[in-house]
Amino acid sequence: MKIIMLGAPGAGKGTQAKMIAEKYSIPHVSTGDIFRANIKNGTELGKEAKGYMDAGKLVPDELTVKILLDRVAQDDCKNGYVLDGFPRTIPQAEVLEDALTKLGDKIDYAINVDVPDENIVRRMSGRRACLKCGATYHIEHIPPKQEGICDTCGSELVLRDDDKPETVQNRLKVYHDQTQPLIDFYTAKNVLKTVDGTKDMKDVFADITAILG
Ligand code: ADP
Ligand code: AMP
Repeated sequence: MKIIMLGAPGAGKGTQAKMIAEKYSIPHVSTGDIFRANIKNGTELGKEAKGYMDAGKLVPDELTVKILLDRVAQDDCKNGYVLDGFPRTIPQAEVLEDALTKLGDKIDYAINVDVPDENIVRRMSGRRACLKCGATYHIEHIPPKQEGICDTCGSELVLRDDDKPETVQNRLKVYHDQTQPLIDFYTAKNVLKTVDGTKDMKDVFADITAILG
C-alpha cells in the first residue's frame, strides 16, 4: 500500500504516519526527518537544506526529489510506504507519479489531515521533537512520560527551530501557495480522502484505518 499524507505543517501528518507505518508494517518516509538527520550529521545536503528550513521555505525540488526517489527505491519500500511531507509541490507529485508509472505502480491513498490555520500555531509551539529517533510529542496534548525526554530512545526533546511562531506563519503561507493545490491534484486521481485532524489523535487514526481497511 502506497500512501501520501497531506495537510498543513503541524496538522498531525507525522503522528498519524507513524501509527499507519506500525499497523500496516510499511516504512514511514519523512523528507523532513531525512533533512533533519542530515543537518544533525553535518552533511553537505544538511548544510544546503538548513537555510531553507530555518526560513520556513521549501527545499528546492531538485534536491528533495532525489533524496525521496533514492529512499523509496530501497528494499524495505518494496511492499509500500507512507510518505509524510512529500510531495509538497505539483512538480514533486508529477516526478513521483512518473517514477511509479514506469514501475506500473501508483499511489493508493492521499490522506488529507484537515486542521484550520487557527489551531496550527498552537500545535507547533507545543510540539517537541526527538532529533535522534524522530518521535514527536505535544506538551499539552501528547506529553512524554518524563518532561523533555523521549519515551522511545531517552534523548532530549527540542522545540524545532522552524516551529517558532514567526517561521510558522511563513510555513503556512508556503503551504497554501504551493502544497494545497495537491488536494485538487489527488482529487482528480480519485485517491484523496479527507479526515478531520482537529479530533483526538486516536479518533483521527480510527477514521484513517476505516479508509485504509
Ligand atoms: P506534521 O507532521 O503534520 O507537521 P505532527 O504530527 O508533528 O505534524 O503534529 C504537530 C503537533 O501536534 C505535535 O506536537 C503533535 O504531538 C500534535 N498533535 C498531532 N496530532 C494531534 C491531535 N490529533 N490533537 C492534538 N495534537 C496533535
Ligand atoms: P516537515 O518535517 O515535514 O515539517 O518539514 C520541515 C521542513 O523541511 C519544511 O518546512 C521544508 O523546509 C523541508 N521539507 C520537508 N519536506 C520537503 C519537501 N517535500 N519539499 C521541500 N521542502 C521540504
